[in-house]
Amino acid sequence: MRPYLLLTPGPLTTSETVKEAMMSDWCTWDEDYNVGIVEVIRKELVELASSRPEEYTAVLMQGSGSFCVEATLGSVIRPEDHLLVAANGAYGKRMGVIADYYHLNYHLMKFDETQQVDPAQVDAYLNEHPEVTHVSVVHCETTTGVLNPLEAIAEVVKRHDKVLIVDAMSSFGGVPIDMAQLGIDFMISSANKCIQGVPGFGFILARRSLLEQCKGVARSLSLDLYDQWETMEKGHGKWRFTSPTHVVRAFMQALNELKAEGGIAARHARYSENHRTLVEGMRSLGFRTLLPDEAQSPVITSFYYPSADFNFKDFYQKLKAKGFVIYPGKISQADTFRIGNIGDVFPSDFTRLVEAIKEIR
Ligand SMILES: *Cc1c(COP(=O)(O)O)cnc(C)c1O
Repeated sequence: MRPYLLLTPGPLTTSETVKEAMMSDWCTWDEDYNVGIVEVIRKELVELASSRPEEYTAVLMQGSGSFCVEATLGSVIRPEDHLLVAANGAYGKRMGVIADYYHLNYHLMKFDETQQVDPAQVDAYLNEHPEVTHVSVVHCETTTGVLNPLEAIAEVVKRHDKVLIVDAMSSFGGVPIDMAQLGIDFMISSANKCIQGVPGFGFILARRSLLEQCKGVARSLSLDLYDQWETMEKGHGKWRFTSPTHVVRAFMQALNELKAEGGIAARHARYSENHRTLVEGMRSLGFRTLLPDEAQSPVITSFYYPSADFNFKDFYQKLKAKGFVIYPGKISQADTFRIGNIGDVFPSDFTRLVEAIKEIR
C-alpha cells in the first residue's frame, strides 16, 4: 500500500493501521459513530491541546485546513472588530485573503519569509492601535518551515487583552502547545498533518466562553463554526451535514497511535530526530538550508538548489523512482525545495533518503 514515502507536509505518510481503519462503513446518525468516535476525538483533542480542558471545546469541520481557518475568522470576527494578521509566509497571507473575502477590518503585518514573526513589532502595533480586537498568526509557517515564537507572541497579545487565533495546522500534535498556559483562544489544525490521519476534515479548538458568544456572527452557512459546534455539542457528536466517516474513523486510530508513541512530546522528539538526520546528511552532501537553525521547525525543511543549473524536476523524478516524494519550494526570493519531516516516517528513512540523494547527484 506504499509505492513511495510522502516526505510532504500533509497529506503525509500514514501507517498501514490508519489506512486499514477506513475499511468499514459508519452511519452518521448512529451512536456507534457519534458517541463512540466523534465525541471521543473531540474530548481527546481538547486534552491534547490544553492543560485546562474544561475551558476549551473542539469542533470538527469538513474540508481541508483552510476551510477551518476560514470558518474561524468568518465566525468569530464581527464587522465592527479589527484583526491584526502577522504573516511571514503563504499561510499567514491566506488569512489576509480570507479577511478580504469577508470584508473584515484588518491589517496585514508582513515579515520576510525567512524570518520569524517579531513579537516586539506586534507589541508596538498594538500600542498604537487600541482598536484591534483579534490577532492571528501561523505557528509553523509551512511555506518555509519557520517556527514562530508562539509563547512570546501570545504573551504580547494577552498583555494587550486581545483574542488570539493560531493556525497550528502543521505543528499541533508534533510540537507541544498548551492553549491554556499561553492564553490561546482559537487554534486550528487538520486531520492530515502531525496527528497523522488522512485528509478530509480539520478541527478548531476554542475557548468555550468565547465560542458561546459567536451565535449569528458567521457569514457562511457551511462554515458556521458556532452552528457546527452547537449541533455537535447538543447532538453528542452529530455533524450538521455529511461527515467524512471513514476519515474520522481513521483519525481516531491515528490518535490511538499518537498515544501509543508516548504522546506529543515523544512525537516531537521523533520529528526533531528526523529533521536532524536529514539536515546533517544534506549538509554533508553540500546542501544548504534556507533558514538559520534558530528559526527552523522540526516539521519541514527548505534547501537551496545546490547550483544554478540544478534541475528540480529531474531530481524529483529520480528520487520518486527510489521511493521518496518531496516538495517544491514555495517562495519567490530563492530557488528552494522542501522535505517534510512529519508523518509515519523515521530517522532511518532519512538516512536512506540521504543515501538516495547521494546516488543521484
Ligand atoms: C496545511 C496548512 C494549511 C491548510 O492547508 P489546506 O491545503 O487547506 O489543508 C494552513 N496553514 C498551514 C500552516 C498549513 O501547513
